[in-house]
Amino acid sequence: MSEGRVGRVWLVGAGPGDAGLLTLRGREVLQGAEAVVYDRLVGDGVLAMIPAGAERVDVGKSGGSHPVPQREIEAILVRLALSGRRVVRLKGGDPFLFGRGGEEAEALLRHGIPFEVVPGVTSAVAAPAWAGIPVTHRGLASSLHVVTAHSREGGLPDLDFEALARLKGTLIFLMGVEGALELCARLMEAGMDPETPAAAVERGTSARQRRVSATLRTLAEAMRGAGIRPPAVLVVGAVAALAERFDWRAALPLSGVRAAVTRPRERAGRLSRMLRDAGAEVLEVPCIATEPLEDPLPPIGGADWAVFTSAAGIEALTARLAREGRDVRELGGARLAAIGPATAEALRACGLRVDLMPDVYDGEHLAVALAGRMRTGEKALLLRAEEHGPELTEGLRAAGVPFREVPLYRTCRLRPELPEDLDMAFFTSASTVGAFAACAPTGWRGWSEVGALCIGRQTARAAREAGFARVFTADSATLEALLAAAVAARGQITAAR
Ligand code: SAH
Repeated sequence: MSEGRVGRVWLVGAGPGDAGLLTLRGREVLQGAEAVVYDRLVGDGVLAMIPAGAERVDVGKSGGSHPVPQREIEAILVRLALSGRRVVRLKGGDPFLFGRGGEEAEALLRHGIPFEVVPGVTSAVAAPAWAGIPVTHRGLASSLHVVTAHSREGGLPDLDFEALARLKGTLIFLMGVEGALELCARLMEAGMDPETPAAAVERGTSARQRRVSATLRTLAEAMRGAGIRPPAVLVVGAVAALAERFDWRAALPLSGVRAAVTRPRERAGRLSRMLRDAGAEVLEVPCIATEPLEDPLPPIGGADWAVFTSAAGIEALTARLAREGRDVRELGGARLAAIGPATAEALRACGLRVDLMPDVYDGEHLAVALAGRMRTGEKALLLRAEEHGPELTEGLRAAGVPFREVPLYRTCRLRPELPEDLDMAFFTSASTVGAFAACAPTGWRGWSEVGALCIGRQTARAAREAGFARVFTADSATLEALLAAAVAARGQITAAR
């Protein structure tokens, strides 16, 4: 940030909610943001991508407190940009589709502030899509009309209902929950067939998405019966009847599950992707970060076995070697042991083949496997985190294996805000459990409600000790097994909701 320079504003469409529906350009500018101004419809998964150092301005407070008036939002954008910052204005869906993006652009123009628009995936199309409704379909609808059902003054806007009734395309109404009854009545009065299929999709693309299917005649009543509340998209037209057939989300094993992934951000990717593939809404809330130690790395040569217990260890080792103008050849002819497949994979990525991996991926079994393979007189070198559980060293000592330890990195706790209304939290180490617990506010309801999905016994023990009442443990310490445990636990967890 530099004073005296005018910043820039990006009007970014955050998509309908699911973090995967933010555009690549949207993510790119968000990662470079120094201030982020967002409203209520922006998904939690997208908010979790806001860089730690950026100022966050929530202009969409809901539930009692009123949202910030539009003029004031514009003034905030102008003020932040004039202070020289890179400002991202995140808006639900697309910024120029009933998003008042144009008004904000006007305000920026008036102050000579440069801006860019990053279009977004609109809820008008995405919410129906996630509910199994294609907004056009061959033979059923050849046009799409997106209409607001709410006027500035409140109530329905002054629409040409006769024209809408004649269009024969798909009608999509935004902001239509409150006015649904009157809206449907006016369309029928204007001549639209009361038996026209219709649907409402609430909180589309989130784990809490719900769909109500009805006809034009029954929609408002069906919505009332189901207690549909904003935000919801109303679909009127023959395509609405396709929802049952194309309900692809319902088939996914973790659909309806809101999941927090707590491992360090740079390691979250694969687990997050697996959970999303299974249909979960994934919120990345890294609770720890790893940092290579700063002190000079001691010599690492001369051992017969080099033992690694995490992918982070390998990264820290190569980073520290590089910093000192050294490289992995110092390991010489040492054979390599890895605690599990992810560690083995990280070694492979450095061109190193693993000689030993235990059948069960934990410290205790690694010690037994090593003791079984090492010959008398051979020495092991443990390359791992500064802090760790006692299992590996105790096991080696018990077996009489001589070893030396070189700490490579430390884990530090982060303090993310825990997302509300979670179903599951995923833990791949006891340290993430501890860090997560430190973020929970007093009286956190999650202790009894949220399922703690743990990669192994040590992690599960930590979760129980932290206070989780529902702890589920993977059969083996792999992400695949962790996912399987989540799928098995889903019924239990969501039934209690
Ligand atoms: N610019 C936004 C629309 C803003 S108007 C977009 O392109 O999506 C606000 C309305 O959008 C809400 O009243 C609701 O009708 C709709 N909406 C936004 N997000 C939604 C979601 N996740 N599910 C259903 N409707 C949504």
